[in-house]
Amino acid sequence: MSANPVRLQAMRAVEATVAPPISFDPGEEPGAIFGQNVFSLTVMQKRLPKSVYKSVVSTIERSTPLDPDVADAVASAMKDWAMEKGATHYAHVFYPLTGLTAEKHDSFLDPVGDGTAFASFSGKTLVQGEPDASSFPNGGLRNTFEARGYTGWDVMSPAYVLENPNGNTLCIPTVFISMTGEALDHKTPVLRSQQAMSVHAKRVLTLFGHDDPDNVVAYCGPEQEYFLVDSHFFMARPDLLNAGRTLFGARPPKGQEFDDHYFGAIPERVLGFMMDTERELFKLGIPAKTRHNEVAPGQFEVAPMFERANEASDHQQLLMTTFKSVARKHGMECLFHEKPFDGVNGSGKHVNFSLGNAELGSLLVPGETPHDNAQFLVFCAAVIRGVHQYGGLLRASVASASNDHRLGANEAPPAIISVFLGDQLADVFDQIAKGGATRSKERGTLTIGVDTLPNLTKDPGDRNRTSPFAFTGNRFEFRAPGSNQTVAGPMVVLNTIMAEALDHCASFLEDAVAAGTDFNEAVQALLTQVISDHGAVIFNGNGYSEEWPVEAEQRGLKNLRTTVDALPELIAPEALALFSAYGVFNEREMHSRYEIGLEQYVLSVGVEANLTLEMGTTIVLPAALRYQTELAGNVAALKAAGVEADTSTLLSVSEPLAALRAGLADLGAALAHEHPADALAAALAVRDGVLPAMAAVRAAADTLEGLVADDLWSLPTYQEMLYVL
Ligand code: ADP
Ligand code: MG
Repeated sequence: MSANPVRLQAMRAVEATVAPPISFDPGEEPGAIFGQNVFSLTVMQKRLPKSVYKSVVSTIERSTPLDPDVADAVASAMKDWAMEKGATHYAHVFYPLTGLTAEKHDSFLDPVGDGTAFASFSGKTLVQGEPDASSFPNGGLRNTFEARGYTGWDVMSPAYVLENPNGNTLCIPTVFISMTGEALDHKTPVLRSQQAMSVHAKRVLTLFGHDDPDNVVAYCGPEQEYFLVDSHFFMARPDLLNAGRTLFGARPPKGQEFDDHYFGAIPERVLGFMMDTERELFKLGIPAKTRHNEVAPGQFEVAPMFERANEASDHQQLLMTTFKSVARKHGMECLFHEKPFDGVNGSGKHVNFSLGNAELGSLLVPGETPHDNAQFLVFCAAVIRGVHQYGGLLRASVASASNDHRLGANEAPPAIISVFLGDQLADVFDQIAKGGATRSKERGTLTIGVDTLPNLTKDPGDRNRTSPFAFTGNRFEFRAPGSNQTVAGPMVVLNTIMAEALDHCASFLEDAVAAGTDFNEAVQALLTQVISDHGAVIFNGNGYSEEWPVEAEQRGLKNLRTTVDALPELIAPEALALFSAYGVFNEREMHSRYEIGLEQYVLSVGVEANLTLEMGTTIVLPAALRYQTELAGNVAALKAAGVEADTSTLLSVSEPLAALRAGLADLGAALAHEHPADALAAALAVRDGVLPAMAAVRAAADTLEGLVADDLWSLPTYQEMLYVL
């Protein structure tokens, strides 16, 4: 155990931790609590007049506009339901561009002046709110004199009651827009892009003989990785507390090289936490399904079942807040940062993505018949076209200072966006490229006709963990998103690039059929065209290898290593054209997102840099100086006693100590520079000036950690933080 009083006290406190009692009733039927706090379709069906209910369903399924009378009826039923569940307030919940969740709370009670109050909640209040928007980033979209923004109910994402020991709140997921109707949030573009994609997906489906198909939606199943750290250590680390990651810390003697954590037994304390979070998530209708240890010590994963993208995205945000609050109840801190510990695996949020609807299921599943397979291959081809043309945008959608630590670091996919198809599908597209697919690799069967297209087995089986965008049997898995990011960003890009690609496919087929071409031949021609134009994006090899970036460059694929390289993709002419053509963002909105992305980058690195300077100066430097003084005293005492003094320890400490001093001076100087007014120039200065200065300070400090006497070192070590749960 540590001889340092701060760390010793933390260790003792960890030892004394008792898990909180779990509110689990063993008699309870599994599933009984699922959705208990959600104003779901089932609840609506029970509580609303039939015509009102039908009208809401039609708004959800067919995007018909919401009638004001319907809104009034829904609001009234929603209020009664929520008040029965103990809600006193309601909140429009929205998702500003900080990446966090924001809420504006209002009471249901309307005081009427004579000491009484009425509970009221009208359709108008349900549908629209007016939070003061001035403190949210807008990237120049709003003039300061017009601080108002509007929130608007997302009918497709259900309202829910959030419990709190001091009273419950009815939460209504909303969009957040400016006075001029421009998006200030992450939800609005998800809904817009969803609509655009659906239009063109339905054109393709109609060509394949589906008569008036329902809306096609994007499904999203996010796999969330996270770390748990005991609160006592967390509190003793100003860097974790303020920046969410350690800015100092030498690698532990026992790293993750043993691989003994992955899928190992879940520690009891963590299991208690997981069960508690699952209960909370279930109540909110969030379908948490799998849970397991992850690669790094102290790292875990939760994966809810996939849902419609807008709902999945709201649920994902709610999941993160729930995990954080439940963890605190259990005396732990839940870290969603992409790279909390240097030299230890980081955390991602794999976004599993498919298209479909209730009627047709997933459109990315190989079908039973060659005809179905032709449809499947067209949707796959659209993915290939979309990712090839707009890989840079996908990269930009996951760009952040913290995710930069992960991408391309041989633990997460490289920053080069390529598509992995698996052997079977790759083989089919290979044959298509050569002029016609005749058989599927696996089975060796040959079907001609409609049917120039092969049978496909349902489970292509193989996995490639090094690919950023992999086909996994019935969906694609986008592995680049970071653990702390909203899934909305990637989903907006995926929907929009699919809208463009499906538009292309539908037009190609419509034109060919109108010109009298046989439909099957037209499909064949389309697939051949897509694969010859965009096949360069397909890569089934090892994405971590040294050869890949070289080959990728030859293929013309972009390698946007950092956020500062990636964000300009948002305002490239082809991106502006794409988003405006499909009604997802206008140019001003794109510029605003670009500016905000850069601003957030500069701000978050700035916080870390200031912390590095402060901790380096007030914690690390004093510890090292004291130790140096002690050693010098030892040398002097020995000399005075006439004994030969060994100065090697003193010298070995003095060297990194000098480096630390110099590093702190450089960092201070880098921080003292005034930021250039231009956002991109400011971000570049941070990337090329501040980040390297921080790294130099850290390198010296981490060396000192291995030299300075343990009783002088007050920062909990990696060993302690990662192996104590
Ligand atoms: P893995 O083997 O990649 O670790 P997990 O079971 O951890 O898989 O997570 C898989 C995720 O993919 C889950 O969220 C799951 O609901 C989701 N998923 C499964 N099928 C689809 C689909 N058709 N569309 C979107 N997501 C899906
Ligand atoms: Mg998984």
